[in-house]
Order: sequence, then structure tokens, then C-alpha cells
Amino acid sequence: MRKIYDALYRWYAKEGRSDLPWRNTDDPYRIYLSEVMLQQTQVKTVLERYYFPFLKRFPTLQALADAPLNEVLKMWEGLGYYTRAKNLHRCAQLSAPELPKTYEALLALPGIGKNTAAAICAFAYRQKRAVMEANVRRVLCRIYALDDPSEKVLIEKAHKLLDATDPFTYNQAMMDLGALVCQPKEARCDVCAFAPICRATELNCYDFPVKKKRKVPLRHTNIVVQKYRDKFHLKQREGRFLHGLWGFVQSEKVVGKRIGSVTHQYTHFKLEADIWLHEVSNKLEHMFTLQEIEKLALSTVDKKIVTLLRAEGAV
Ligand code: SF4
Repeated sequence: MRKIYDALYRWYAKEGRSDLPWRNTDDPYRIYLSEVMLQQTQVKTVLERYYFPFLKRFPTLQALADAPLNEVLKMWEGLGYYTRAKNLHRCAQLSAPELPKTYEALLALPGIGKNTAAAICAFAYRQKRAVMEANVRRVLCRIYALDDPSEKVLIEKAHKLLDATDPFTYNQAMMDLGALVCQPKEARCDVCAFAPICRATELNCYDFPVKKKRKVPLRHTNIVVQKYRDKFHLKQREGRFLHGLWGFVQSEKVVGKRIGSVTHQYTHFKLEADIWLHEVSNKLEHMFTLQEIEKLALSTVDKKIVTLLRAEGAV
């Protein structure tokens, strides 16, 4: 395996993204933050729009723990999956000023899964842990020709392949290999260090793991925006879904004038909402001007509704 690791590191030194800011720090908080942001969002977006502003506002785990949740959600706006932000905040409150130093203690914190715990251990504390984000999973499945492996099998394979002498560089290189070489639609085996031992190359079949087709259901709803003079009514959400964010209110009964529709793709369903504007004669609780609304933590759907209201000249 030594020859393979050496080839992998030569490739990583030349082509890898070793300049990413979270790869040039051993601060567990910064590494943790990058892992959480990158869970559902591309590197480019995180790098250009979210990572640095978040750190500027909350430079340490303690600063994050001390901040009100509303401010954390506001800084997270646009990244979606707001449970991630809430868990980040909760973890900070439970562990500030420092994150725990063991895999097991990290796993016990809310929202920290096996991959995030492994990444913090490998990158911040240089422990022998194999990181397994989506790209690495694909690489492993191809190397071992695994159709639909259980989590246990994947973890075993990942640790079997891990370079225990340098888990830090190995994990970084594996993540980049998955992102840049062993890609979903194209496997560039000619430049891949694992080609000599890869089962997918040997079989000339790259469909590992086997893709499962998932049909995303469509949900339709009506949202009635209540307006009084230049103010609009919003509610702060309390359920699990989008908890803590402010939003316009869904309604089964339609009143007022239809001003358009908005759509949004969530992980488990697609939302299609008709938007109605209804002028009320008395002021309701929680009414805000559009300028005030833009300062609240809003979901993407509610931001789209604000754009619609502006286009409609509703103020
Ligand atoms: S040899 Fe090809 S299929 Fe195998 S891990 Fe490398 S790029 Fe992927």
C-alpha cells in the first residue's frame, strides 16, 4: 500500500485543494464549522459567501455559545437545513470554550454524526479516523465494488484503507480524489493512485454504489399574506421544520388577491405555493415592514415571497 499512498500524496500535492482555509488550521471549531456548512452546500458557495462572515461574527466557540439563536439563524440564512445551525449553536453552548477531544464525546453532541466527529478527530487532533463524506463513500464503493454496503461494512473498509501513519493528509487527499478524480459521472482512473487495486477499474464498471431512484413528492399549499397599511404579518415557526425562522402563514382558506406562486425544492419534497395578498382592517400581532422583514431570519421560500411582494408594489 505504501506505493499507493505515495502516489496519492504526490497527486494531492499537485492537484489537491490544500489551500482551503479549514485545511490550514487545527482549530477544532473552524474545522467543525466547515464540516457542518459543507454537509449540503458546495465548497465554492461556503467559501465565497458563508464561512468567513460567520467566523467574523462568531470567531470562537464561546462567541457562538454566547450569541442569541436568532443571530445565528440570520447568519445561516440561505444555507438552508436550519437544524444544522441550531445544533451548531447547541453544541457550542454545551461544550464552549472547547469541543471534546474524543470521537465518542463528539458523537454524543447534538447533530454531530460519525463523519463530522471523524473529521474533527482526524483534522484537528490528528487521530486515526477515516473520514467518510459522500465523495469518499463513492471512492470506497468503487475500490471494493460494493453495490449497497451497510454503514458497518463501509467503516470497516475505510479503516482498512486508511494510512495510519498520516491520517490527516490521507483523509484530505481522499476527499479531493472523490471530488476531482473519481467523480459520479466520470472516473479518471488514468490519474488515480488506486487504479492498481480498484475493483471498478478491473470490472470496467463504475456503477458503485447502485443508485436508488427516489421520487420526490410535490406538496401544494396556499400562503395568505395579511397586510395592514405598509406592514405584513409573519409568525415565528415552532415545529421541527424551519424552527425559529419567521415566515408568512399557510392557509387552507384563500382570501384576497393572488399575486403569484413560488416553488422550492426541499430534500424530501417539492413545495409549490400560491401567494395571496389580503388587506386587513385591523393591525395584527407581529406585523413588520418589508425592510424590517429583511432583517429577520427567513427561509428561502419566505424570501421569494418578499421578492414577489416588492415586484407587486405591495408597499
Ligand atoms: S481507479 Fe477509477 S474507479 Fe477506482 S477509485 Fe480511482 S478513479 Fe475511482
